[in-house]
Amino acid sequence: METIMAKQGQPGQAPTRITIFDTTLRDGEQSPGCTMNREEKLVMAQQLARLGVDTIEAGFAASSPGDFESVHEIGHALKGPRVVSLARTGLADIDACVEALKGSHHWGVHTFIAASPLHMKYKLQMEPDDVVHAAVQAVAHARRFTDSVEFSPEDATRSDPAFLVRLVAEVVRAGATIVNIPDTVGYTTPREMHALMTRLLNEVPGADGVVFSVHCHNDLGLAVANSLAAIEAGARQVECTVNGIGERAGNASLEELVMALKTRQAFFNMVTGIRTEELYHSSRLLTQLTGMAVQANKAIVGANAFAHEAGIHQDGVLKNPLTYEIMTPESVGIKSNSLVLGKHSGRHALADRIRALGYDVGGVELNRIFKEFKRLADLKKTVFDEDIEALVNQGVAGAGRVVFRGMSVQSGTDVTPKATVELEVEGEVVRREGTGDGPVDAVFNTIKAIAGSHCTLTLYKVNAITGGTDAQGEVSVTVEEHSRRGTGRGTDPDIIVASAKAFIAALNRLERKRAPVEGV
Ligand code: MN
Repeated sequence: METIMAKQGQPGQAPTRITIFDTTLRDGEQSPGCTMNREEKLVMAQQLARLGVDTIEAGFAASSPGDFESVHEIGHALKGPRVVSLARTGLADIDACVEALKGSHHWGVHTFIAASPLHMKYKLQMEPDDVVHAAVQAVAHARRFTDSVEFSPEDATRSDPAFLVRLVAEVVRAGATIVNIPDTVGYTTPREMHALMTRLLNEVPGADGVVFSVHCHNDLGLAVANSLAAIEAGARQVECTVNGIGERAGNASLEELVMALKTRQAFFNMVTGIRTEELYHSSRLLTQLTGMAVQANKAIVGANAFAHEAGIHQDGVLKNPLTYEIMTPESVGIKSNSLVLGKHSGRHALADRIRALGYDVGGVELNRIFKEFKRLADLKKTVFDEDIEALVNQGVAGAGRVVFRGMSVQSGTDVTPKATVELEVEGEVVRREGTGDGPVDAVFNTIKAIAGSHCTLTLYKVNAITGGTDAQGEVSVTVEEHSRRGTGRGTDPDIIVASAKAFIAALNRLERKRAPVEGV
């Protein structure tokens, strides 16, 4: 197949290694409804390490004490990937990164300042000369503590290219080791990005001694295309997030970039260090931790990404998968046969299965999961991998001010829907009754009354995790209060109980206040 297509790399030339800089825990996490707590971030970071990313941007150490702790914890827990923290050019920001990460196995600082006329004038209220000075000072300061310093001119794609050349040349001279070009507002196009990257590589003195990187947003749906254009022009690092989460329309999607390079390796002649069989699991884990589901037609990891609906396609795939399949579901870690356990399965079989799914749980946690598993296996005939994943991840997402204990509802055609809910609020058990327009409404009203919340429900979505009427219900809920937003997810064979769990998770997330953040 490849023989009929243009090859970009020279025949026989070794493929170029592209490094993957994952910013799921920084750019991704600061997007609406995606906040994670420390424990959730650590679990995700460990999965990113298994996935094989080269760098993890763990947060923005100076933005809040919670972010600082998280960066510190991830930096010291991981031995594989380089861990970095974002910083504005203020020296206090750089010092916060250093303080959080020093002593880590492999770490660095990522500093940024806006470079576009719009941002310099209205956001920073700084003259271009002062921006260059601040950038140089920040990079030089960071280099005193680490030899891995990345610099990003924010809003680069709307900046004056001549000014960018000057700014980048100065930070390279000051010791920056990675120069990242962000399309902060998702404005550029592939050819334009290619031209900008080419110009910087050609005109910046010392460009061959540093790594150029790219960071694209998806406002026009071009993040992956623009990133590929940048690496075709000579960038060697690409910044991205799992499921493409991030500010507004999100960042370039890690799984799409990696599979584009892998599936079309003969064209690009580039490789990454990603273990692609971990892609699907990484996507599922992030969805479970944040409650932010991917759309069914999302490339690579969406529910329909490998589903062939048209009869002629199904027929072709059965005769030879290559007819309509450019990559296999197995290559991204989607298993075709996921039927595994039942009510007679023991603790050992469950522990084996959890490990096979890529989770690492301790004894106490296994006890909790096994208890839940038995309860679930009594209710359902078969327990699928997806069910087990949901049980494992419930524990991770469980921590919060409000804890679910139990509930019952009464509903039907001739009664006022009524709910009894028992919650633990800051350690105190509270039980209350309430009513509503339907059973879910009655439960939500009662939870709000107990928790003392005045939030409004903005999204309520039900999915079945697996097929059949005995499938577990997976409910996603988004709530808002005072322009803060919280997303939560709950699973249970009983859809009303799943709704209650999701609502409480959203409420707990909503209550996590955070300082206003910015970034590239
Ligand atoms: Mn960004």
